[in-house]
Amino acid sequence: MRKAVKKTAVVLRSLILCLVVCCSCSAPGGEEASCSFFAMDTYMTVTCYGERCEEAVKACEEEIYRLDALFSAGDEGSEISRLNREGGGKISPETAVVLDEAISVHEMTGGAFDITVYPVMDLWGFGTKEPGVPDDAALANALSSVGSDKLFFDREGANLKLPEGGGIDLGAIAKGYAGDRLMEIFKEHELTGAVASLGGNVVCYGKKPGGGKWKCGIRDPRGTPSDIIDTVELDEGCAITSGSYERYFEDEATGVRYHHIIDPATGYPAETGLLSVTVVSRNGVLADALSTACFVLGEEKSVQLWEKHKEEFSLIFVREDGRVVRHFV
Ligand code: AMP
Ligand code: MG
Repeated sequence: MRKAVKKTAVVLRSLILCLVVCCSCSAPGGEEASCSFFAMDTYMTVTCYGERCEEAVKACEEEIYRLDALFSAGDEGSEISRLNREGGGKISPETAVVLDEAISVHEMTGGAFDITVYPVMDLWGFGTKEPGVPDDAALANALSSVGSDKLFFDREGANLKLPEGGGIDLGAIAKGYAGDRLMEIFKEHELTGAVASLGGNVVCYGKKPGGGKWKCGIRDPRGTPSDIIDTVELDEGCAITSGSYERYFEDEATGVRYHHIIDPATGYPAETGLLSVTVVSRNGVLADALSTACFVLGEEKSVQLWEKHKEEFSLIFVREDGRVVRHFV
């Protein structure tokens, strides 16, 4: 199955070369440059406004490719793949930052967020040509190495040790970290404004040309990718969505649909009556981890968490019946 993931990564990487589309033009209030490409398993678009907009979009695109090559569990050459293959080892400062946040959100969410779901994800085979429902014995075996408390993370010594048969998957947090890095690039290039759409993650910076707040559409999980169910207005920050519609397969024998957000307690896709969760925050890495975690926790437990951290993030749920519920300060 790992071979299939690798093959998909290679195919996607060659697609990247074909799909990079860049353009620049004059916008009301200054220069505008835009770039669309495929990375981290999703389509991305970055638009920058300001004198150095062209340089900035290029820097953003390169940064995303660099982070993809560092964090992708499906790319044999990545740091994460090396750690998974070798049961741990030396880690880079950036991986350490992401691990720190992942472990902190794991604790904050009572284990709903858990990057050690890797062996379970591998069994389900989401993103491969042959996804399928794992058999009970294999799932029980994979689950025995799941639990971020089983990681030995030596922050000072920049070392990670995985439990026997264990592995890590940063798929639920890497794009959030990438968004935070783009925010730094926007600042370094002294842009007047910028917006990036990294799959379900939207990052907004500075002023929107023409004034007013940035508007970010929340996708209708029951519709096509262009159907919007709600809109969030942002000054600056990100809106990050996790949803069961993003990646799934249908079991041929039973017709049952299985999606990619796993409840680490059961090893099965989380079923909590939600179609999507959007987290709005200034902190991208936190928002990405939380959107996945809140999908697993369900509405009630997520709202209890929000009550304690209202200043850090806001929540938008889309329930199974299509109802939208917002929790903002
Ligand atoms: P996201 O789209 O940010 O919700 O991330 C979903 C991805 O994160 C999946 O494709 C898996 O790679 C990984 N994942 C699935 N379930 C979990 C979980 N409970 N905690 C952490 N990562 C997960
Ligand atoms: Mg996430």
